[in-house]
Amino acid sequence: MELYSGYVNKLVDELAALPGIGNKSAQRLAFHLINLPEDKVQRIAKVMTEAKANVRYCRECYTMTDTELCPVCADPQRDHSTIMVVENVRDQAAYEKTGKYKGVYHILHGAISPMIGIGPGDLKVRELVERCAGDVKEVILATNSSLEGETTAMYISKLIKPMGIRTTRIASGVPVGGDLEYIDEITLTRALDGRTEI
Ligand code: ZN
Repeated sequence: MELYSGYVNKLVDELAALPGIGNKSAQRLAFHLINLPEDKVQRIAKVMTEAKANVRYCRECYTMTDTELCPVCADPQRDHSTIMVVENVRDQAAYEKTGKYKGVYHILHGAISPMIGIGPGDLKVRELVERCAGDVKEVILATNSSLEGETTAMYISKLIKPMGIRTTRIASGVPVGGDLEYIDEITLTRALDGRTEI
């Protein structure tokens, strides 16, 4: 006999497939959802569907946005000749939270990882090189200090430097393998201020 109803099992399976949700958490969430009032569940489902249908990549920096250009790229006060390259939208949010960075971003959506078969073609690398053909003075490589992040930074610097663009790497001090989003604002500001030419 199955432990739970088929519908509960299906819900648990879907939730358990989400990142960071183990089987126990999935069960807890599933029962929580089932016990919620009908309208609340419908609201959650609607918000998820709407987000999926309306969120897209910014045509400049590839962050997630509701509009064609994200608020950072659309802001004329930002320095559009300085591009900070980050692995994901959460890393961008971490830097944006410091309020110290005045340039724009480029989101790669991952890092090069031969171990799991992720190459430059799976990331927004070509799009970055295309952006660099415009009026770009500096590219700040702010990928994580993990092996994948370092590999990605080296790979990109080899493409960008010959274009005559200043290419810098954020200072170490960002813990090795540490996800940028978990690092405090002071550390991030220091990493940015202490960036060096590569
Ligand atoms: Zn943008």
